[in-house]
Amino acid sequence: MKELICIIVGGGYAGINTVNAIRKTFKGDASQRPLRLILIDKNPYHFRKVLLFKPAAGNEDIIVPLTRLFPEGVEIVQATVTKIESEKRRLLYQDAEGNENSMKYDILVLTVGSVVRQPDLDQGGVALASLDAAWKIREAWRTNMQKAVKETNAKERQRLMTIAVAGAGISGIETSAELAHFVREDAQQLGLDPSAVRIKLFNANNRLFPDGPAKVGLKLERSLEACGVTVLQGSRVLQEKEGTLTLSSGETMSVGLCVWTLGLLPNPMLRNIGLPVTPEGYVIVDASYRVQGAQGVYSIGDCARIVDPASGRADGKTCKEATAQAARLGKILSADIEGRSAPSHKGFIDFFCFGLGPGHGMAWTRIWGVDIIFTGKLGWRLRKFTWDSASLLK
Ligand SMILES: Cc1cc2nc3c(=O)[nH]c(=O)nc-3n(C[C@H](O)[C@H](O)[C@H](O)COP(=O)(O)OP(=O)(O)OC[C@H]3O[C@@H](n4cnc5c(N)ncnc54)[C@H](O)[C@@H]3O)c2cc1C
Repeated sequence: MKELICIIVGGGYAGINTVNAIRKTFKGDASQRPLRLILIDKNPYHFRKVLLFKPAAGNEDIIVPLTRLFPEGVEIVQATVTKIESEKRRLLYQDAEGNENSMKYDILVLTVGSVVRQPDLDQGGVALASLDAAWKIREAWRTNMQKAVKETNAKERQRLMTIAVAGAGISGIETSAELAHFVREDAQQLGLDPSAVRIKLFNANNRLFPDGPAKVGLKLERSLEACGVTVLQGSRVLQEKEGTLTLSSGETMSVGLCVWTLGLLPNPMLRNIGLPVTPEGYVIVDASYRVQGAQGVYSIGDCARIVDPASGRADGKTCKEATAQAARLGKILSADIEGRSAPSHKGFIDFFCFGLGPGHGMAWTRIWGVDIIFTGKLGWRLRKFTWDSASLLK
């Protein structure tokens, strides 16, 4: 019997959870045809993007080989997909050696994610946008600490021991808390005064966590202050140049390093991949994640614009949404193959977790209109659980 070729493009959170969901759902053999499952990613590993702040501050490994996640039952191909020709049910790709090639599919799931927003070149600093950037950040502050040991000018020593984090979303919050821990630890080991380390988190908004209640934003601010981060509300960084930070207020200050954490943008390759995109650049899908006008093609995760048909609310671009969409997609695919009516998208409950340095975390959810906040050990366990389960590591 002819096999059913199902290709998943992207081994991020949406992609690996889709592989898992398809394997679970297709155990009962929805199509009566043998399933050939292929996972394509430009890297041979799953990149635990949400932990990018870890190698910027400490020494944690945040990549997991795809063969470790899927030792059998899934063909893993390292390649960059460049085009989807949906009328021919074919995709074009460049393999790891740079050769152009193509592959036929029956079902294709596109989960190529988003990219980190970068500042302009003349804005200076380093954006926390990739593993290389994270290593560069760690290298920069460690070099500054070593210079501070020898520095006799107190003002210059203070500058070297000051880090600005520009952008106070979840990534900025987690990065500043982790830096506060590891930079102080480093200072202590080098014989510097750890309390002289200054980590400043610049928030263009007037409070942290605008997606949730003000009291959670306030609690986060207090927790950050307790771990040694100064939060500057309503303060936008414009530029870092030769150790001077300029704010939109016109104020300047001396810093040893500026780390940008400016959020996400749609993956630019989506505009040329051959599928319909919204004016912002997200793939257009229906309520069951089917790409408009492209038979057999589905898209979820950060790269798709997914709207709850009941509420009209667009899904957020986070791991929890990607994971829930992947689980639903498994059922959608099996229903579509069997010709049954497929499930529709439903928005995820409000639920957010924040890492606040090693061993510390906070989580917030709202159930039946009641705010529930988890702090302390439970907050940390929830944070760790969400990181690990999204990467299939629990
Ligand atoms: C610094 C940072 C911190 C974050 N913090 C949080 C957080 O605390 N909590 C949270 O829920 N979310 C967080 N997010 C958002 C979260 O990372 C995304 O929502 C999530 O990664 C989306 O998963 P995805 O699978 O759609 O995309 P991704 O995880 O981006 O995966 C996309 C995959 O596609 C591959 N790919 C891309 N283009 C191609 C191509 N042309 N061919 C082949 N493969 C390709 C990539 O290599 C990658 O493996 C953070 C993001 C960043 C950058």
